[in-house]
Amino acid sequence: MILSVIDHMENLIVWLGIGLVAVVVLLLAIWRFKKKKTVTKRRVAAPSPPPSGQNDLQFSPRPQSLPSGDNVHLQLEILRQTLDLTTAILLWAGPGDKNLQILSVASLRDDIVHEPFPRGSGIIGGLRPGCPEIAVSPVPPHLSIPYYAADSKTGSLLALSITIAAGPESDEQIGLPATAILCLDRENESPWTQQEREVVDLTCRKLSHDLRFTHKMEETNRNMEAIHQICMGMLELNQVLGLQAVFEATIKTVKQLTSADFIAISLLEGEEHRIVIASGPKSSHFNDLSFPADDGLVGQAIKLRRWMPTHANFQEDIPVFSNSMRIAGLESLLILPLLKGEQEAIGALTVAGRKPDMFPKERREILEVIACQVATKIELGRAHEKIYQLATTDGLTGLANHRTFQHAFDNMLQRALRQSIPLTMVLCDLDYFKKINDTYGHPFGDAVLQEVAVVLAGTVRQVDLAARYGGEEFALLLENSNITGARKQVERVRRAISALEFHHSGNIIKISMSFGLASFPQDAENKNDLIKKADQALYHAKARGRNRSVCWCDTQQTD
Ligand code: GH3
Ligand code: MG
Ligand code: MG
Repeated sequence: MILSVIDHMENLIVWLGIGLVAVVVLLLAIWRFKKKKTVTKRRVAAPSPPPSGQNDLQFSPRPQSLPSGDNVHLQLEILRQTLDLTTAILLWAGPGDKNLQILSVASLRDDIVHEPFPRGSGIIGGLRPGCPEIAVSPVPPHLSIPYYAADSKTGSLLALSITIAAGPESDEQIGLPATAILCLDRENESPWTQQEREVVDLTCRKLSHDLRFTHKMEETNRNMEAIHQICMGMLELNQVLGLQAVFEATIKTVKQLTSADFIAISLLEGEEHRIVIASGPKSSHFNDLSFPADDGLVGQAIKLRRWMPTHANFQEDIPVFSNSMRIAGLESLLILPLLKGEQEAIGALTVAGRKPDMFPKERREILEVIACQVATKIELGRAHEKIYQLATTDGLTGLANHRTFQHAFDNMLQRALRQSIPLTMVLCDLDYFKKINDTYGHPFGDAVLQEVAVVLAGTVRQVDLAARYGGEEFALLLENSNITGARKQVERVRRAISALEFHHSGNIIKISMSFGLASFPQDAENKNDLIKKADQALYHAKARGRNRSVCWCDTQQTD
């Protein structure tokens, strides 16, 4: 708050200063005004085309939004007329830009080069950090002036570097700082006087303020854009709950933020990190791959809890997931740890692209916020899945519990009705189980129940359901199975259970199970009736000597 007030006061002082300078310069202009009628040409550099990728953030000051137009041109024109110049020109190179381009120009000449030219070109190439000013009178003929197309005689030239605020762009990723250069030239070969230098100095200070102000505005705009993008990402992530949904929302969000060509989430699972989702060319090759925990930059990002690679540029020979696996054709790479608090990383988010320098500091910082949110959502998703698992499965056997069975039965029956397909319900009850408990103890009985559950779960198909119905009773729902098919399937289960062997105090214990079957629509058309008839069939299986399967329809023929 205080900072913002100071900021505003600073701006006020700056603008008051600007006004003062403008008045001084105007007075000088009137004083020095020559009657010679001149035609001046106003040239403003053509705005650069917008960067490709509609979601790309612009992280360097955009020349077209710098203080160009009337404001700068007016200052240059006043200066040109005041000092009887041929040209007053303001040149600009953004951070990292190798070329200078014209921000604004006031000139009597019509051969101004409007295309960008290298920073080191011609006479102004001599400007560098230790040498912020070049003043030559007269200009030697062998020294070219890069903003003129034609070489012609120039009397004096003054080129000055204008100080601008260091922005976020001058970070470790960008070698060349932003540069603004004011160049003045004239036909007159006489050296620049002290009075002239003072006028130029005032103009430079004014331009410097303008540039700083614009820079601040740019920074604010960028921050607002970043906040907007973070909010959109958060919103996307907040709308989902399950783990898979979180993975998919992350991919979508990161794609929108970066236009990345390859995105993957890896999760740390024991001694390995596993790719749980990947998006991009040939991403199916990556899905579900596991690597030793320390392997690749992903392993290092998780272990060291920091982003990788530190220079943010991809090199073909960098092992991303492991030493043995390389990703071809990508130029940018960023791997962010998924942090659970300060001390633990649960995995990593990998983003890569075909274009170079796709993940500068600002974009990385946005992705870091998103990665933090992703980590939290993954933790929540895991907790949610755990709760769901506790609520829907039986604690002892891991099979669906009675409630889940009832729910699944409703759904499967509805589907069977809709699609006119059969559904068979099977009730399964261990034979003489009480005796097993009584002889070998309850824990042994528990172990038997667990083993039986493994057999049941392993013998039914993916579309079927095996559930613990209660106690030592289990239930199977066999989708799209009529009584003939179900009977065959159940017989396989019965034989597998009869084949089980348990060991206790040197004894080999064998068990058996009885089964009662009832089919929709053949035996019954609603859930309760099907359960009732499967129970009746089970009763018959027990009565007929156990270790057998009986269909309800069989009981009708024999009874
Ligand atoms: P039948 O062949 O007629 O089914 O004889 P049974 O002994 O299996 O029949 P009964 O229903 O009388 O016995 C079921 C036994 O299952 C009684 C109960 O102690 C045991 N049981 C039920 N739930 C569990 C459990 O979770 N763990 C253990 N160990 N035993 C259980
Ligand atoms: Mg029983
Ligand atoms: Mg029993």
